[in-house]
Amino acid sequence: MIELKAEVDIEVFRRYAGLSLPRHVSYPMPTWWHKLDATDVDALIHDCRHADSPNALSLYLHIPFCEHLCKFCACTKVILRKSAPHAGSHVATYNDAIVTEIERLAEKVGADRPLRQIHWGGGTPTYLADEQIERIQRTIERSFRIEQGAEVAMEIDPRTVSPAKLKHLKDLGFNRVSFGVQDFNEQVQTHVRRVQPFDMVRDTVQACREIGFASVNFDLIYGLPYQTVETIRDTIERSISLSPDRVAYYHYAQIPEKIATQRGIDHTKLPNSETKLEMFLTAKTLFEEAGYEFIGLDHFAKPSEMLGQAVEDGTIQRNFQGMTTGGGLDLIGAGASSISHLSGLGFLQNRREVEDYIGCIQRGETAVHRGKRFTADDLVRQGVLNQLYCLGEIRPIDMETRFGIVFSDYFAREIAIMDELQDDGLVTLEDHGVIRATPNLGRVLLRNIAAVFDAYLNVEAYCVGEKDYFSANA
Ligand code: SF4
Repeated sequence: MIELKAEVDIEVFRRYAGLSLPRHVSYPMPTWWHKLDATDVDALIHDCRHADSPNALSLYLHIPFCEHLCKFCACTKVILRKSAPHAGSHVATYNDAIVTEIERLAEKVGADRPLRQIHWGGGTPTYLADEQIERIQRTIERSFRIEQGAEVAMEIDPRTVSPAKLKHLKDLGFNRVSFGVQDFNEQVQTHVRRVQPFDMVRDTVQACREIGFASVNFDLIYGLPYQTVETIRDTIERSISLSPDRVAYYHYAQIPEKIATQRGIDHTKLPNSETKLEMFLTAKTLFEEAGYEFIGLDHFAKPSEMLGQAVEDGTIQRNFQGMTTGGGLDLIGAGASSISHLSGLGFLQNRREVEDYIGCIQRGETAVHRGKRFTADDLVRQGVLNQLYCLGEIRPIDMETRFGIVFSDYFAREIAIMDELQDDGLVTLEDHGVIRATPNLGRVLLRNIAAVFDAYLNVEAYCVGEKDYFSANA
């Protein structure tokens, strides 16, 4: 471990790492979105539908229900025991609403456009019974033109699936599954109330392989209470033994003032930032030694995986699902809290509260309540941030070709700050103005570099530690 830390200047790391900066799963971040009325929403969707060369589509469905609460969770979810009174009718009413919304979305954005990706997330999509999943999936098939070879993915909670359920998903056309693994250590699992023994995950992964899913992905989290570098090492080694195709290795952000469910976390047991640095570098070393490629801020993928391919062909993107393929698609969201990203145009987000969402759909109204139409400057900076997060570098020539700017003029102030970040070892300034994050320190502190290009932040204050993004915007 000592050798890993020695690769990073700890003093510099301390100066930058205490900040709670945005992860830029969107740009601009939702903090800067505003209320939209039906006219605004219709105008954005109209512009999307009537674009000169309409993009193919990606559809995200949000199923918010979970049987149990995981203390670390920051997702939009509804904890609903299946045995609870009215649970069945509540879920059925939600399903009716999402079916209606899918049909309406297809009419509005154009059912003739190819649908290239479908992603079910949550909450826990596998909370739903087989026939409920089938009804929604058949609605998508009827409403859209699903492209041959489309990615059809579902987030899986290993505690909620059996081999028979997995087989049913495969028969319905699902070809990718993503497991919420989080951590294999018992003490950590018990404290965060996410108990799923290694054997359960191993057996479920094995069932997925036998059934023939094309890709099995894991989500892991570091920075949870009771985690140590040794427990993380063990979790990663066990994960590698199951050979996932792709791993998202997320940093846990403890912000109980914003996320009520985190108030049950014992903050005295959280690892400090230097330990988390070591956890990150340990994971990077272990995954790379096992043949995985490090992608973006926090993802690892086998070279044969589509994510690695997407880096090659430039279709990788950073969005609400982390690092994904499908850059250039129009992402449309259905379900409570879901977000649509209409490429080059703007964001739209549905109401978060399930009752509000259902009410809007039942009244025939849009469920969208906020969003943002992009400015020309938003689009330039989106391009820069996407390249930085996905590739670890910014290539001015690409931005100049794409947006018709002179990079050195447009970003003169940001480039001056990059000189300082170069002195601190976060970036190197290369030929042709390429700005490259350094392999360890720069990749760990990628958000500090990104913050410089975020026009909505006070750059100097946020990147060197005088302000904290989340507390400033709480
Ligand atoms: S982590 Fe997943 S399963 Fe746990 S409460 Fe959140 S959405 Fe539900």
